[in-house]
Amino acid sequence: MISVAEALDHLFSLADPLPSETVPLRAAAHRVLAQDVAATRTQPPFDASSMDGYALKSVEADLHAQFKVVGEAAAGHAWDGTVGPGQAVRIFTGAPVPAGADRVVIQENITRNGDLITITDDSDTKSNIRPAGADFAQGTRMTAPRLLSAGDVALLASMNIAEVPVTKRPVVALISTGDELVVPGETPGPDQIIASNTFGLAALLERFGAEVRILPIARDNEASLKTVLGLARGCDLVVTIGGASVGDHDLVAGVAAGMGMEQSFYKVAMRPGKPLMAGRLNGTPMIGLPGNPVSAMVCGTVFVVPMLRAMMGLPPAPAPQVKRTLSAPLGPNGPRAHYMRAIMDGDSVRDAGAQDSSLLSVLAAANALILRPPGDPARTSGDLVDVIML
Ligand code: AMP
Ligand code: MG
Repeated sequence: MISVAEALDHLFSLADPLPSETVPLRAAAHRVLAQDVAATRTQPPFDASSMDGYALKSVEADLHAQFKVVGEAAAGHAWDGTVGPGQAVRIFTGAPVPAGADRVVIQENITRNGDLITITDDSDTKSNIRPAGADFAQGTRMTAPRLLSAGDVALLASMNIAEVPVTKRPVVALISTGDELVVPGETPGPDQIIASNTFGLAALLERFGAEVRILPIARDNEASLKTVLGLARGCDLVVTIGGASVGDHDLVAGVAAGMGMEQSFYKVAMRPGKPLMAGRLNGTPMIGLPGNPVSAMVCGTVFVVPMLRAMMGLPPAPAPQVKRTLSAPLGPNGPRAHYMRAIMDGDSVRDAGAQDSSLLSVLAAANALILRPPGDPARTSGDLVDVIML
């Protein structure tokens, strides 16, 4: 049995980086930037007014000073002249500041009478001008790899980058195994249950950028498993669920080995999720997840998502952890790392109740996992613990 960290290292070495593709900006959110891109323009491209007011010469902007309004500049409508001594230009937010002016006096501090304005309040001493290039200059780079946020997409748009090089979305084949399983919406027999893991995992992996193909349920016989594993051809990652323990009906490792899988590990010292397996099947990385619903989902968070992120070109890293304060005591942990379903509330966290790995109701009520290292002693309220947010 290997540690979680060792298992992750194996998975990262199985995670071949995916090629890149170019997508329209509109499709770039939550994708990973694959190559550096450079701004094709400067923003703002001109000195721009940040307020509605009057553009004039700052040396003349004294209390009670008067100016003649000689023109108007609005966003998208520059005034082409030059502001002379004693002159002002009516200006609005986003308009280019005309030549000769270096100050915008806000309209609240002005009284106007026909073409004449008077400064009635000099308490605002700001220029109210955004200099050209204040945001970025032409050639400014956004560096890869980078998981593109909504803010990044706005920045790319402002840089006038309409096509974005991103890493290909990893195509993940999800295979549930078991004679007892039917898909949601079907009528299960008296000894059957609904396949839940596939759907939970699909939702999880899609949220982190995968394109998930849910393959037909493989039955607990060699022929069925072989057929369905064969359908996974062309995917970037094969994820099986269940059939990974040592029961008479747990066939995944044996069948995959018969099809040529080179196993890189089997069994991880963790709870839930001990019977985790990984390797390479005909060149394609494969992870065998345990069947218990909570185990499968926890392993999805702890192993599959970090592996997907590495395949998308992000630096290999475990699921992000934060420190939180326990609001209820915890008993001592055993020899395996324990990922406890937990409820985080602000800065504090407590276990979410029964930790049996079949209880999806507890998982759904949880919003975090408390991470207990092997052999962690009993903990009391107020102790700091590591937490993974779900
Ligand atoms: P296994 O690893 O195949 O022995 O499965 C362990 C437990 O998880 C059994 O109770 C299975 O019925 C259940 N199980 C396996 N696969 C799924 C699935 N896709 N959805 C829900 N439960 C599952
Ligand atoms: Mg099974």
